[in-house]
Amino acid sequence: MSINNLTIHETKEALKEGKFSTEELVDSYIDHIEKIDPKVDAFLLKCLDRAKDQAKKIDSEKQNDTCSLSGIPYALKDNICTKGIKTTAASKMLYNFIPPYNADVYERLNSMNSIMLGKVNMDEFAMGSSTENSAFKVTKNPWDLSTVPGGSSGGSAVAVASDMAAFALGTDTGGSIRQPASLCGVVGLKPTYGLVSRFGLIAFASSLDQIGTFAKDVEDTAIILNAIAGHDPKDSTSLDLPKKDYTDQLKNGTKELTIGILKNYKAEGVQEEVQTAMDDAIAAYKSMGAKVVEVDFRYFKQALAAYYIIACAEASSNLARYDGVRYGFRAKDYTDYIDMYYKTRSEGFGSEVKRRIMLGTYALSSGYYDAYYKKAMQVRTVIINEYKKIFDQCDVLLTPTSATTAFKIGEKMNDPLQMYMSDTFTVPINIAGIPAISIPAELDHKGLPIGLQIVGPVLGEEKILQAAWALEKHFDFRKNQPNL
Ligand code: GLN
Repeated sequence: MSINNLTIHETKEALKEGKFSTEELVDSYIDHIEKIDPKVDAFLLKCLDRAKDQAKKIDSEKQNDTCSLSGIPYALKDNICTKGIKTTAASKMLYNFIPPYNADVYERLNSMNSIMLGKVNMDEFAMGSSTENSAFKVTKNPWDLSTVPGGSSGGSAVAVASDMAAFALGTDTGGSIRQPASLCGVVGLKPTYGLVSRFGLIAFASSLDQIGTFAKDVEDTAIILNAIAGHDPKDSTSLDLPKKDYTDQLKNGTKELTIGILKNYKAEGVQEEVQTAMDDAIAAYKSMGAKVVEVDFRYFKQALAAYYIIACAEASSNLARYDGVRYGFRAKDYTDYIDMYYKTRSEGFGSEVKRRIMLGTYALSSGYYDAYYKKAMQVRTVIINEYKKIFDQCDVLLTPTSATTAFKIGEKMNDPLQMYMSDTFTVPINIAGIPAISIPAELDHKGLPIGLQIVGPVLGEEKILQAAWALEKHFDFRKNQPNL
């Protein structure tokens, strides 16, 4: 096993025992990135010299055992602002944007001496489920290079799945952490809305966006969450709560837990092998002493419809700022400033982004507001209440993350509705603002990873991590590795 295949907790142990230095660790990642990234195209910007310098400094100042993430190399989704380092949101509109400030999460990781290896690919402005909407490149799934890694945080998922980073941060507005985690065979967590600051995140849909984690296992996920969660006065939606240690309850087992299963989940076009993985998980929970109960959720279709109205409405407003005046791309030839706006926005945005701006402005326009936006917000309330009822009956809910395993590159690009439907199981969670984790379970007959999702009530992170840790032990997915 190579150094860069280790989890964070294994790496920390090895660093402590002096098996290798931080510099050797970073060198091993750099070599691996140089070998593997040309095959999978995960990185938009590599910061390798900087990473090496940082590693040397950590070694010389003996900082590597001061805290859980010091010296640990990671990748950042390219919609998270890094001061002085280009941040593009994978859009031509921001092809040259160098943020003058840091995102809160990046600041927190810096203060722990974690080592940022680079910025990774995504769907433009986080709109998509395959990372094919990037203005710059298409990232490939390491398990089969002809398939998509999922999206929009495809680069983050691939960086971790192919051992090019010990962990990564991504963002999840409707599934963009959990779906690519599922398709790439890694662990992805979307925390409760407000638990992790969004300051410095390039906004897509502000009431749904949440920064979260990609990791090799559940324990690492808890360690990263410890580092990035916490109140931030710069984000008015940030929750002001006492600090928690998410590793505390991790290994408590599932004897006291009640796991909810949806009666009707198979009706959502779920691939047979995904159903089998669900059945295996249910049997495993029962054998570990958990109680398993059936619960009802009747609103998948409505959740998806409401999501695409709310997300597009918020996106159309958030993206109004890209006008070519203050920063980013500006069209070359124009006659006057109105013409400059038109041309800048026509040339700077990709087609999926334009589709969403049009849908969003339509849904918000007077005369249609009540029929679309207001209705969608009412559906949102119904869904929030539905989850409250579910979590009266169980501690956590187990569902597939994605109805199918990874699809072929190009397969859904000309059919936006098909693409939108890949978020059936993830979108309702963002609508309700609750936390959910995806963990890899098994491989399908094509050798592609199957992910399962564990959902909790508001601030139910400890419970979902506890349930996920136990299930991870059962599946032991890490015996499988992509063959690159
Ligand atoms: N795939 C969904 C969309 O395109 C979710 C994206 C996300 O979570 N950022 O809107």
